[in-house]
Amino acid sequence: MIGEPLALYVHWPFCVSKCPYCDFNSHVRASIDQDPWREALLADLAHEARLLPGRRLTSIFFGGGTPSLMDPATVAKIIEIARTHWTAADDLEITLEANPNSVEAGRFANLAAAGVNRLSLGLQSFDDRALAFLGRAHSAREGFAALETAQKAFRRVSFDLIYALPGDTEASWSATLAQALSLGTRHLSLYQLTIEPGTRFATMVTKRDFDPLDADAAAALYELTDTMTSAAGTPAYEISNYARAGHESRHNLTYWRYGDYAGVGPGAHGRRLGMRTVRHRKPENFLAAVRRNEHGISEEKPLSRFEAADEALVMGLRLSEGIDADAIAERFGFDAIVAWSKVDRLVASGHLERQGSRIAPTASGRLLLDHILVAIAVDVPRASLARPLESVRA
Ligand code: SF4
Repeated sequence: MIGEPLALYVHWPFCVSKCPYCDFNSHVRASIDQDPWREALLADLAHEARLLPGRRLTSIFFGGGTPSLMDPATVAKIIEIARTHWTAADDLEITLEANPNSVEAGRFANLAAAGVNRLSLGLQSFDDRALAFLGRAHSAREGFAALETAQKAFRRVSFDLIYALPGDTEASWSATLAQALSLGTRHLSLYQLTIEPGTRFATMVTKRDFDPLDADAAAALYELTDTMTSAAGTPAYEISNYARAGHESRHNLTYWRYGDYAGVGPGAHGRRLGMRTVRHRKPENFLAAVRRNEHGISEEKPLSRFEAADEALVMGLRLSEGIDADAIAERFGFDAIVAWSKVDRLVASGHLERQGSRIAPTASGRLLLDHILVAIAVDVPRASLARPLESVRA
């Protein structure tokens, strides 16, 4: 495994407020003492480095929470130390997620100086009413201003939008998407609003404060998104991620292509040499664990070859490039991981494409991926597709 590529995910768990749709591991605290956090993250990182010697570091992703609230000096230190633990690839991709308010935009130049070379900006909407509904702390005007600042500071900028909100129509979303595609970024993350259990939106939906957009309308918006992004030369390369060729998130491709990634910080997941690692979610518990054990791991478990093959199938079929089913079967010691007759039936119905042992979902297939996986997988239990892991952001 010496020289094998490795991705590093660093989770910063704090936000200024909790968005009502969010089920990420994010916490609001009156104040955050940066020094102990820097030391804890570095200790957690050193633990992973001891267990993954000699690897080639291809990407670092600071996710959250709101990592643009990190002290840029902390970001710089983590990058510097990661580069000493591993051999950094020449084109090391270093992404940081940011919220588009003026305070955070004021830090972009310092974050770029710290080594961040790709910014993922949580714009979420261009409409102030939608931003208020989503509980976002910024206005549309602040969002555009932050995007402009980001495009000056970073070579690569992506932004997120959330669509399929109650009341969204094909006319309203196509206008928003046309605007998004005109803003000069080469990567977009376009997520449909989903109501996650345990969120404030879940309670509101139960109380009928609002009704989510119905599934058929949401599916129509997804297909519209596929058509418009393809026409603009920024096609889907994953269920919710769109990029010009060569501008995909390399970090996330590592997850979806089933490579190893070290995940450090509260709630971070990792995949290390056939093991699944999970860190303590609550910030205070994470800090206490690091003080006790010099790492923040709450759970570490070897993946069976059934689980690993299943995960590789589930992750890989999120991608437009799809998977080589025979290569995955061989990697984990199976004769086959898919029932080819069922694959061919889904090719005939227009949900999958097949070339030899490569299978890829079409746009309509990406919408039905849960069902497709259940239909085609053989002999392996089904991993949940329900939502991305804490570490799977773009
Ligand atoms: S959506 Fe982002 S900014 Fe809002 S609470 Fe979740 S992690 Fe924080």
